[in-house]
Amino acid sequence: MKTFARPHGAWLWRGPLPLMLRHASRLSHTLVAIAISLPLLTAGANALAAEGEGFASCLARLRPEAMAKGVSAATFDAHTAALTPDMAVIAFLDAQPEFVTPIWDYLAALVDDERVADGRDMLARWQEVLGRVEGAYRVDPATVVAVWGVESNFGRNFGTRPLLTSLSTLSCYGRRQDYFRGEFFTTLKIIQEGHVAPERLTGSWAGAFGHTQFMPSTFMRLAVDFDGDGRRDLVDSVPDALASTANFLKRAGWRSDLPWGFEVALPKGFDTSVAGRRNKQPMQDWAARGIRRIDGSALPAGEIPAALLLPAGQGGPAFLVTRNFDALYSYNAAESYALAIAHLADRLRGGGPFVAAWPTDDPGLSRAERRELQSLLIGRGYDIGEPDGMIGARTREAIKAVQTELGLQADGRAGQKVLRALRSAAVSKEAS
Ligand code: CA
Repeated sequence: MKTFARPHGAWLWRGPLPLMLRHASRLSHTLVAIAISLPLLTAGANALAAEGEGFASCLARLRPEAMAKGVSAATFDAHTAALTPDMAVIAFLDAQPEFVTPIWDYLAALVDDERVADGRDMLARWQEVLGRVEGAYRVDPATVVAVWGVESNFGRNFGTRPLLTSLSTLSCYGRRQDYFRGEFFTTLKIIQEGHVAPERLTGSWAGAFGHTQFMPSTFMRLAVDFDGDGRRDLVDSVPDALASTANFLKRAGWRSDLPWGFEVALPKGFDTSVAGRRNKQPMQDWAARGIRRIDGSALPAGEIPAALLLPAGQGGPAFLVTRNFDALYSYNAAESYALAIAHLADRLRGGGPFVAAWPTDDPGLSRAERRELQSLLIGRGYDIGEPDGMIGARTREAIKAVQTELGLQADGRAGQKVLRALRSAAVSKEAS
């Protein structure tokens, strides 16, 4: 394929929070973003199923369509006979975010010391493979490992929903059935071609799976067999997954001679109306407007097209980004996502945190701090389950209650203020 047709998976979700929707089923591992009243939505979805066409007759209708797309009768029958719908995925499809995560919370959990340390371990462990991947695709090891860390936490979070169940349900009920049918048939073809065994094909509610969290159609276009066993296996082969990620970025326009971008300092009174990822200007034009790198040094000379990014508006860190940032963006169609990968890659190379502060007096929490916050809540008698660092609805409710107890603004957000207040309260309790 010569053209890069569309970013995988997320292209559907042109809503305000594409990343969150795509990752909804494993949201709490990394993003901690939205509260979905799932039981209610599932009840609605179940009613939809009851009113609508029966699942078996839907599958029977899909059978010839699948065959026209290259799925054999034997494959279709063997892998659909025992399927039953999972209406929870329809609830995810229709879920609206109730809680928007500020970018500083998002980055605090995605790019924390733990993930930097894990990423460095992975760089060392897979050094030889990553070197060959760079040779083949011209994408550097830190970038590939950063994508891996953000997508699946280095293979720890694949998602647990069976793909065939989710995608067959989404093919028969709800919005976007045409799109999901394509993904469903492609999943059957992945199995038919022997790349990944059906029981290993689990993922997000929408069907993103494996180390790289590719949708099945993205797998078909861009996954590669790098360990040479004849199978493209993004679930059980790290070399295949790393090479497939590099192939994705290469096809999305990655250039090995460019940085993704860097943090910059704007001169006083700078007109920020020129900001925006799509407004690319030659680097020298930005220099002429008085922009410098954040350490005060000059921008690279020349015509390199770059855009000014202000993820939190005028008051926070500012960045100049190149086409490589766009390549990262195309992986998941969210600027916050691309910035997380870019920043994690820099940290893996030894870079520090952003220099400019986010415009907040209550910065976000790392995953370790989230676990600590949860332990402190449990210590005060709140029943929120295990301290797993995932800020779900129950943790947020407990935060709200404890914020009220401690005289803080009761917004349910897991930030530094409530953590510090809980630490002091625990210390004075011990002392008394
Ligand atoms: Ca392979």
